[in-house]
Amino acid sequence: MQRLTVLGSTGSIGKSTLDVVARHPDKYQILALTAQQQDELLFAQCQQFKPRFAVLLEEAACERLSQRIAAAGLEVEVLCGTAALERVATLPEVDAVMAAIVGAAGMPPTLAAARAGKKILLANKETLVLAGHLFMEAIHASGSALLPIDSEHNAIFQSLPRGYAGDMRASGVSKILLTASGGPFRNTPLEQLQHVTPEQACAHPNWSMGRKISVDSASMMNKGLEVIEAHWLFNAPADAIQVVVHPQSVIHSMVQYVDGSVLAQLGNPDMRTPIAYALAYPERIESGVAPLDLFQIAKFDFVAPDFARFPCLTLAYQALRAGGTTPALMNAANEIAVAAFLERQIAFLDIPRLIEAVLGKVARAEVQTLQDLLDADAAARCAAQEWITR
Ligand code: NDP
Repeated sequence: MQRLTVLGSTGSIGKSTLDVVARHPDKYQILALTAQQQDELLFAQCQQFKPRFAVLLEEAACERLSQRIAAAGLEVEVLCGTAALERVATLPEVDAVMAAIVGAAGMPPTLAAARAGKKILLANKETLVLAGHLFMEAIHASGSALLPIDSEHNAIFQSLPRGYAGDMRASGVSKILLTASGGPFRNTPLEQLQHVTPEQACAHPNWSMGRKISVDSASMMNKGLEVIEAHWLFNAPADAIQVVVHPQSVIHSMVQYVDGSVLAQLGNPDMRTPIAYALAYPERIESGVAPLDLFQIAKFDFVAPDFARFPCLTLAYQALRAGGTTPALMNAANEIAVAAFLERQIAFLDIPRLIEAVLGKVARAEVQTLQDLLDADAAARCAAQEWITR
């Protein structure tokens, strides 16, 4: 029996995780569930999975959840606040932590879980973008197992040799081919991009996801964040990570070897596949995902990414190469930009403009400690807010 904490259980990845867990009650037990403010959904999840702890960030939501839990006679302890996230991510009884909070807010509890030696199922890519070096150091120091949930990185993990230890050359790997759907605006005329709405940006052609990652997919910042994520996960230099636009989203990524072989992982675009893979690794379990019908798909397309159309992708490669606090600054500026776009305060094409302005304003620094990253994150958020209200 594997005992789990699900950070961000009310989100898209969180719900898919619980869907897989519910199919295997003999294998997985939920010890803690967390959300930001959706107390009603968290209560329903508590009724179904009977965790020992439920965490919310908002006081009023905590109060409502506590009352419901008491009225239902459930034995669930309700905790409130960010410190509680770290507490449930590091409980001695917990074997594995699903890191599925969105944004930089997911980093501290994920890092704490890594330091505590928990098996990490990593959906929160921002942890690696913000604190890749510190996080990987914590993983190696504690001996935690790290399993990527992002479908691309999960595919790369599956296509690398078993036990790959971060040495591309020794493993005969020449390149990582990171596939991208191209998002909803792959073919939208450039002059129309200025006026696209949050609803259009969130209508992803292949994947159903949370709003932040949907906008990131539309701007291709998501692919940029994934390039940085791949760098840390697989110890791959920027030049060895090539983005390949593959609109069908059936090949989830590939690994090219020096002998000319290319290994890929394919499947329907449904996050329950990488979630089930990571939960059961090194075994395989049923996930609820329909089998792939290759005859129905019929053909695969591959196109080079259009860096002029998607400047966020260029910014992410530049941030990775610059190193230090630059990826953290870019990530924070992007989070503020996406939130402002979703609130209709800025236009879609302002997202890269805002990020560039922040990177021009807040100086890059070297990273010695976690505090250096938190300071950079705060400074970038401040500069981004100033840009919006300028
Ligand atoms: P969602 O927005 O759907 O869910 C986010 C979850 O985090 C919710 O449970 C939410 O609670 C909680 N949350 C939000 N803000 C905070 C905060 N400040 N502190 C604590 N908890 C918070 O996101 P997704 O599930 O789409 O994405 C989660 C992560 O997984 C992201 O990092 C994303 O990049 C990554 N990912 C997602 C994929 C997908 O298919 N969705 C694919 C690959 C990676 P509440 O519901 O109460 O607001």
